[in-house]
Amino acid sequence: MALMLTRRCNMRCGHCSVESGPDVRGEPTEAELFDRVRQAAASGVRAINLTGGEPMLRPWTALRLVRAARRLGVAPSRCAIVEDSPLGVDAANAAGMVAFGFARVTPPAVLSHARGGIFSSMAELPALLED
Ligand code: SF4
Repeated sequence: MALMLTRRCNMRCGHCSVESGPDVRGEPTEAELFDRVRQAAASGVRAINLTGGEPMLRPWTALRLVRAARRLGVAPSRCAIVEDSPLGVDAANAAGMVAFGFARVTPPAVLSHARGGIFSSMAELPALLED
């Protein structure tokens, strides 16, 4: 299941498929996100993809969601996150999540610690998530 923490992003990419950017307003509350995680776990979902925008603009929310998911039977290692910043990959690794490094603009070398792999086109992501 994909869970969008926010559509805000520190970048403003012309190719963005979800029209993210620094000026986007409005995002789900933490209570709403926790409710989605509870519903997903109750429905048998065993993997959650935290996405955005830039999900690490809400780092503490992301960490609390991972903890909540773990309590509900979704292991942190089954929580995936797509990242294009080295610091975001660091945060994902620290939380025990699997980061997938999006190297369309970011040089691949600075995302080399993304455990899920590195990709440069969103068309490549579904195959990586299936591994
Ligand atoms: S970094 Fe990603 S989410 Fe942010 S604007 Fe660019 S494509 Fe969209």
